[in-house]
Amino acid sequence: MKPKVPVKIVTWEEIVEWSRGLAEVIEKSGWKPDVIIAVARGGYVPARLLCDFLDVTDLLSVQSQHWVEAAKAAEKAILKFPYKLDLSDLKALIVDDIVDTGDTLILARDFVSKEWRPKELKIAALQWISPVAKIKPDYYYLEVKEWIWFQYPWTRLEDTMQFITRIFREDPRTKGRALSIDEIKSLFMEWYGIKPEDLGFYWDLALRRLVEKGVLVKDGEGFRAGRL
Ligand code: ADP
Repeated sequence: MKPKVPVKIVTWEEIVEWSRGLAEVIEKSGWKPDVIIAVARGGYVPARLLCDFLDVTDLLSVQSQHWVEAAKAAEKAILKFPYKLDLSDLKALIVDDIVDTGDTLILARDFVSKEWRPKELKIAALQWISPVAKIKPDYYYLEVKEWIWFQYPWTRLEDTMQFITRIFREDPRTKGRALSIDEIKSLFMEWYGIKPEDLGFYWDLALRRLVEKGVLVKDGEGFRAGRL
């Protein structure tokens, strides 16, 4: 059966490999940034690795945040901490993990070019989901043709908690009763197409945190929904 939300677990090794690959794409183009701008938080690790592979010392950051607009279901991306800088002598490269809708990167690019005014500005991402993205980055390592949630190693806990919460919010089979660990694991595999075992210690940690937060409540050997 096809999972409801297709997920691929990305390993740290893959991140290093993909960042190295992206650095090579940039090098081969003959262009070199003086400064790298990480889009927080997803762009941090790739940006830091690119600094290493491209021998760039200066690393800055802008942080994007998603706001659910009042009375609208749609989320809007905004920049937190929109501080000013003068980069007019420098060639800058904005780095993110993935270009999905592209909204975050359009926002970051427009902000940096208007407020920081670099001499040149380009965009790089490890992955580009070409059928849905509103922009194509200047540099990318992997083109993704079918939408997937890439479970990056830096959001392992956060994602696992959200995956489990979503099952308890939306799956009718969780309503009004406690579920055993095996039942939760089997729903998890059905929803996301990945095995809880593949998440290593994050699985137990996520369940423990969800109980601490009151999202799940321990019920005998199993769990039931709390404040979802
Ligand atoms: P953009 O498309 O410009 O990256 P989004 O608003 O779509 O902007 O995404 C913002 C951030 O959310 C991404 O940088 C990434 O960290 C995370 N994200 C979005 N889509 C995915 C995905 N398919 N897999 C993993 N992470 C994602």
